[in-house]
Amino acid sequence: MSLVLENITVTVPDGRDTLTILDAVDLEVAAGETVALTGPSGSGKSTLLAVAGLLLRPGSGRVHVAGVEAGALPDRERTRLRGGTIGIVYQSANLLPSLTAREQVEVVAHANGRLDRAARDRAEELLVRVGLADRLSAQPGQLSGGERQRVALARALMMEPAVLLADEPTASLDPVRGAEVMRLLLEETTRLGAATLLVTHDGDQAAGAGREVRLERAASTVG
Ligand code: ADP
Ligand code: MG
Repeated sequence: MSLVLENITVTVPDGRDTLTILDAVDLEVAAGETVALTGPSGSGKSTLLAVAGLLLRPGSGRVHVAGVEAGALPDRERTRLRGGTIGIVYQSANLLPSLTAREQVEVVAHANGRLDRAARDRAEELLVRVGLADRLSAQPGQLSGGERQRVALARALMMEPAVLLADEPTASLDPVRGAEVMRLLLEETTRLGAATLLVTHDGDQAAGAGREVRLERAASTVG
């Protein structure tokens, strides 16, 4: 199980010109490995994560998720592949305001068609593992930023993803809470054997990952 991005190019129309956001990017993340994706603001880190997460089809190139090349798949199949194999954590937790911590995690199983007893147990186990045993019934408004981000991590881990994508997951946290979320992310990557791609601005986090891949600003305009 791994993530392989081959020769990824993303362009967007820019008036009469074409803006190149990613220019022939290659990136491979092995199972159980965490790769830090770094680079200046606007270098295309979030765009590359969207490509890896099958949320954006690249203009050219191939995306292999857990051994499946996603490019040829119709949207419905891509959505199914994403739901079953990819977990995503964003900069802010993006929790649903009216759901409890437990429900935020359970809803993933529901969306994938199997919220059974085992799934409920697993949701609770994950929340315990991220240190929220006594916050299972709390709604987002009752949780701190660090707690919300730990719920988001538990949610991303719910389907035991082959690929874990995290876009500056600790950006909204203080250094202590941020380090805690990072430790959990690295631990779970190893435990699940996930291929984890982590966007970060933090040098310590990049150093803590197995490897660092730096994007340079590709954005160029071709008339
Ligand atoms: P990063 O996450 O590294 O800061 P992004 O992937 O968000 O970079 O964006 C890379 C560049 O592409 C930026 O210059 C951004 O403005 C541009 N960009 C991203 N998405 C679009 C879009 N849909 N249309 C036009 N420009 C875009
Ligand atoms: Mg970004």
